[in-house]
Amino acid sequence: MSHSAKLSLREIFGDRFSDETGLLFVYSYDAKFERTPDAVVFPVNSDDVSRLLSLATEEGFPVVPRGAGTGQTGGSVPVEGGVVLSLERMNHILELDCENLTLTVEPGAITGDIKSYVARFGLYYPPDPASYAFSTIGGNIAENAGGIHAVKYGVTADYLLGLEVVLPTGEVISFADKLYKNVTGYDLRDIFVGSEGTLGVITRAVLKLIPAPEAYATALVGFPDLSSIRRLASTIRSISASACELIGKNIVPVLMREFQLPLPPETRYLILIEFDGFGDEPRRLLDLMLSSFSGVSFFVARDEAERERLWDIRRNISPIIRANCACGVSEDIVVPPASVPEMLQFLENLPDEFPVKIFSFGHAGDGNLHVNICYDELFPERELEQLLEALFRKTVSLGGALSGEHGVGIAKKRFLNIYLSEESIRLQRKLKRILDPRGILNPGKIFDE
Ligand SMILES: Cc1cc2nc3c(=O)[nH]c(=O)nc-3n(C[C@H](O)[C@H](O)[C@H](O)COP(=O)(O)OP(=O)(O)OC[C@H]3O[C@@H](n4cnc5c(N)ncnc54)[C@H](O)[C@@H]3O)c2cc1C
Repeated sequence: MSHSAKLSLREIFGDRFSDETGLLFVYSYDAKFERTPDAVVFPVNSDDVSRLLSLATEEGFPVVPRGAGTGQTGGSVPVEGGVVLSLERMNHILELDCENLTLTVEPGAITGDIKSYVARFGLYYPPDPASYAFSTIGGNIAENAGGIHAVKYGVTADYLLGLEVVLPTGEVISFADKLYKNVTGYDLRDIFVGSEGTLGVITRAVLKLIPAPEAYATALVGFPDLSSIRRLASTIRSISASACELIGKNIVPVLMREFQLPLPPETRYLILIEFDGFGDEPRRLLDLMLSSFSGVSFFVARDEAERERLWDIRRNISPIIRANCACGVSEDIVVPPASVPEMLQFLENLPDEFPVKIFSFGHAGDGNLHVNICYDELFPERELEQLLEALFRKTVSLGGALSGEHGVGIAKKRFLNIYLSEESIRLQRKLKRILDPRGILNPGKIFDE
């Protein structure tokens, strides 16, 4: 980055610009990757963002939007240097509209704060990435984040009504704010959702809210084999469970031991299932689901404390994997929900071909699986690449995609052509060039050079 560009940034941002080494280090990483930027700026409004991006387009330096830096694929890491644009000071909740059931927010608002703010009014913002307590709504929109409740409520895109975006050239565009329906011209708003900060910087969002559910019914179901899981998955979708979390083979024995689960020793898989709603409806639906099954064992939470205990089991999965996996990678593939058992079978067979141990868990109801591949530190890089390619090819052959939640970033761009056709990649690159003619916004992400 040129000295004159830095001087111009100082002029625009004053003490909200920094190139101090210690601070640069703080903005150099996400949950997985690292690279130090040349400078960091802290805008407080869309005008700041616009001036920065106009300057970057003029001078040709990279700008990388950053929410809370919790991404898992390097999206907010400045792999080509340049300026990190931290949206953390644009974190205000601007307006709750109880008549239209909308909430207008700045991009740096923490998703958990949004959820608890609207809960005070009996309202619910459902999208719930596991990072919601510390990730930002801007990052959630840019990654189209989803979570446990996606099986019933959908992902971030499903709760987005309006959006203000600053384009890489500095123009600010705003898409209709509080409309639940709109067929006026092309739907440009949605190209920014899941665009991983490569097409524009989100500076304001209008979110859709719904009434908060008041009652829950939760059960832990144990399965001896994959065929019974297949039957359960289709039943769950037809009666609209609000969560359907699968815990795979290698994790189950540890949980059975640590939590003294009252399930038979031949239990190989667990599914944590929850219904939500009003009055006695959730319990009625849970009973309906359980009664349609024979040959599975289950434990139903009798009160809130037992419900919490069941969710505690789910929360313990990552610590268990960390304790059993010194070296490894984690993937978040997605397949059509009915193909989850076949995908699990494939994963269980992988150690026959490669010296690895697989820990799988995830959102069985929507087909999004977290696959943790653990190996010895001497496991050759080349074999890991072969394994990953085999995993992604199998996923795509089942009608799936490379990522259900975490995006492509720098982590998966070398595998993109397994899923996307050449024509699709060409069109997406063309779109990028139209919006970002000098390629200054988050370069080096999604597409291989
Ligand atoms: C422990 C843990 C659990 C997680 N669980 C989940 C999960 O369950 N589901 C899930 O979907 N993800 C999950 N994630 C991944 C991550 O939290 C999400 O991708 C989240 O949406 C990132 O938000 P962030 O604010 O941290 O964004 P960052 O990591 O800062 O950025 C992510 C991407 O968004 C872009 N970006 C950020 N803000 C803006 C903006 N205002 N305008 C344009 N682009 C922007 C960045 O350039 C980058 O490409 C998890 C991560 C961790 C560490």
